[in-house]
This record gives sequence, C-alpha cells and structure tokens, in this order.
Amino acid sequence: MNLIAGKKVLITAGPTHEPIDPVRFIGNRSSGKMSIAIADELARRGAEVELVLGPVERRPVSQEVRVHSVMTALDMYEKSTELFENADVAILAAAVADYRPVNAANQKIKSSEAKLVIELEKNPDIAQALGKSKQDDQIMIGFALETFDETKHAIGKLKKKSLDFIVLNSLNDSGAGFQHDTNKIAIIDKQGNNVKFELKSKAQVAVDILDYLNKLLYEKLVH
Ligand code: C5P
Repeated sequence: MNLIAGKKVLITAGPTHEPIDPVRFIGNRSSGKMSIAIADELARRGAEVELVLGPVERRPVSQEVRVHSVMTALDMYEKSTELFENADVAILAAAVADYRPVNAANQKIKSSEAKLVIELEKNPDIAQALGKSKQDDQIMIGFALETFDETKHAIGKLKKKSLDFIVLNSLNDSGAGFQHDTNKIAIIDKQGNNVKFELKSKAQVAVDILDYLNKLLYEKLVH
C-alpha cells in the first residue's frame, strides 16, 4: 500500500554558502544528489514535494517537485520553518554550514594582508528547531555523515533532533557519501532498530529510505 501518495513532504537539500565577501564563501562538498533522488522518488509515489535547495546546479527530473532555492543557512532555516507547519513529513538532508561569518564584507577583501581573521558564529540547527515544534502526527527524518563511532553519534543526533529515523552514511565506505553516484547506508530508528543496506545507486537508496518511511506510516495507521 502506497501511503506516501498525497503526503506533503518538506526536504532540505544541498550545501549552504555563507558569504565572507561578495565573491567568497564558506561551503562544503554536498552535491544534493541523494536528496534530489529522494525528491524525485517521492514525486513518483505521488507526494507533494517542497524541496528547499541550497546552491547546486542539479535539479530534480520531476516537474512536480516544487523547488525553493536558498543560499545561506539562515535562508534555509526561514523557508523550512515556514513550510514545516503544513508538512506531514520532513526529510532534513541538507549539509548546512555549521558557522557563518559574523560580518560579511561589502567589498572584496584585499589579499595584501599576511593574515586574515574571520570571526564565525553558529548557524541555527534546522532539524533541531523543527523537532521542537514537531506535532505527534509529523514524521522527521535526518541524515548523519560520520567518520568514527558512527552508530553512537547517529543515535545521539536522532534523540537530540527528535527524529523518527536517521540515515547514516559512513565516509569510511568507498563509493558512499558526497559527490558519488552510489551510497551505503544504515537506518537507525527511535525504536532502536538498526538496518544495514548494501552499496547501491542513490536512486535505489532513495527507494529503500522511502520504503522505510512507508512502513512507518503504516505502523502509525494501524496503532
Ligand atoms: O549534527 P549534524 O550536522 O551531523 O546533523 C546532521 C543532520 O542535521 C542532518 O539531517 C542535517 O540536515 C541536519 N542539520 C540541520 N541544520 C543544521 C545542521 C544539521 O538541519 N544547522
């Protein structure tokens, strides 16, 4: 039974860029591939998809996915908070920059100085903020990219961010993570289940994640 059809799903995706000056920024290597694959698979299953997408070239194939382009973590935070109110499911898959420069320079910073100090301040944690306003009938899914003590860290994030389940991808697995077309994941849910999957294409990983979501929606329906 397809319980995803008709559901309103918010997805955050891609990196964020935090301006240092008009030409430079702090960013990361997220390509948005995994989350855009999820957005396309959600649309294929008949969900209403709102994709809050950081600065990447890639776009979903499906014309049905509504794309909200954002640049910074604060832009992403604002748009996601607005869309979460009406969402049945939120998939927080963006690689949000943890810090932003306190003051972005209005003019390009000259390279004449031997040292340049940039003061940074913490960005809001979007998942954690949404978790605080989460209603009982809303489902939240997060991602974790870890390099050591993966399971322990992922469980910590699951709890801290009030997630229903977290998708863990380890950078230690070759072919998994940023930039690649393949990914190897484990899904850890709040009941304590830890399901490990084989290395697959990101499109197939999207199928596995949404099958897991469908199972969760079914369990909520029958309980
Ligand atoms: O703590 P960490 O950044 O590893 O957590 C990853 C999870 O939290 C992902 O689901 C990511 O999208 C989300 N996140 C967020 N806002 C942040 C940082 C992370 O939504 N500022």
